[in-house]
Amino acid sequence: MTGTAGSQLATAVGAGPTQADWAAAEALVRALPPTGRVLLICHVNPDGDALGSMLGFGLGLRQLGVRHLQATFPGPPEVPEPFRGMPGLDLLVPASAADPDPDLVICFDAASESRLGELVGRLSSARAALVLDHHASNTGFGTVNLVDPAAAATSVVADELLARLGVPLDRAIAECLYVALTTDTGSFRFEATTPAVHQLAARLLATGISPGDISRRVFDTRPFGAVRLFGEVLGRARLEPAEADGRGLVWTFATLDDLARHDQRPYVLEALIDSVRCTAEADVSCVLKQTTPGEWAVSMRSKGAVDVSRVAVALGGGGHRFAAGFTGRGTVEQVVEAIRGQLDAALIRPGG
Ligand code: AMP
Ligand code: MN
Ligand code: MN
Repeated sequence: MTGTAGSQLATAVGAGPTQADWAAAEALVRALPPTGRVLLICHVNPDGDALGSMLGFGLGLRQLGVRHLQATFPGPPEVPEPFRGMPGLDLLVPASAADPDPDLVICFDAASESRLGELVGRLSSARAALVLDHHASNTGFGTVNLVDPAAAATSVVADELLARLGVPLDRAIAECLYVALTTDTGSFRFEATTPAVHQLAARLLATGISPGDISRRVFDTRPFGAVRLFGEVLGRARLEPAEADGRGLVWTFATLDDLARHDQRPYVLEALIDSVRCTAEADVSCVLKQTTPGEWAVSMRSKGAVDVSRVAVALGGGGHRFAAGFTGRGTVEQVVEAIRGQLDAALIRPGG
């Protein structure tokens, strides 16, 4: 019995959803009665993929006639400034106002239940839970799991399910999915940028959305205070070339006090890792973002020599080979030391 369950899990997570998984997901949506209540949820500190796949899919469900529809995420109900122009924001409610026992909960871009904060109970209070995700580390916590580790973004999975449900892409859905796709591919720069990603981008652009406007809003607009804050935080970056068996580690940190001094919101720090990971002398880059005293949201990136998802999973988090994260506890030095301690075991050895 365990052998069967184990091999099913290996199929679901390793090779992506089976035809049976897609059919089961489609059936969950189609089985909703006209009065059916659907709650869409995504991971804490939602990024472009979490919000974009959730809201894009939500707009698709609305097209299908689903009337009782809410979207939410754990934590403060604040949409980061870069996403405030997105379509579908009217679906959002604060987590505290979310339906306590919906007929169907659909979860986007969350690798594990720990990413759902106070909303985690909805997975069991709902009649069914459908999980859409693309993290290889996904634990398969839904009734039905559409987890495709080969997908560049959760929005790729959302697009496929919308197509199977017969929902045509309109401009609003396309804009949401485009934000998600560009966020998670680093504007089509990362390894997951396959021909299929560009084909999806082409279909999204064909609806008439404006990629220049979207990118300017999502990636290229920051308050001046954030520019000054970056200067300070990048100025304290440390390079440790001997770490990771000589592949090198670069890291920095930003405190709540840094944010307060520059009068900035935490979301501005999401882009910080992109400046740090440029460092040629380091394969692994890290940014520690203080969330409460003694607690840090840690972002890690790799250029390929180290599988940072292994580091993250070992430290209680998750992610992908090239991008991963976890919640660090203690002082900056303690968290960095915990990372250093995992680097060698996460080295990708030739042939292994
Ligand atoms: P970020 O550095 O926040 O852009 O996240 C990079 C990747 O790591 C994303 O795929 C996240 O889903 C994942 N990730 C970040 N933080 C965590 C965490 N605390 N637990 C699990 N996965 C995480
Ligand atoms: Mn995400
Ligand atoms: Mn994602």
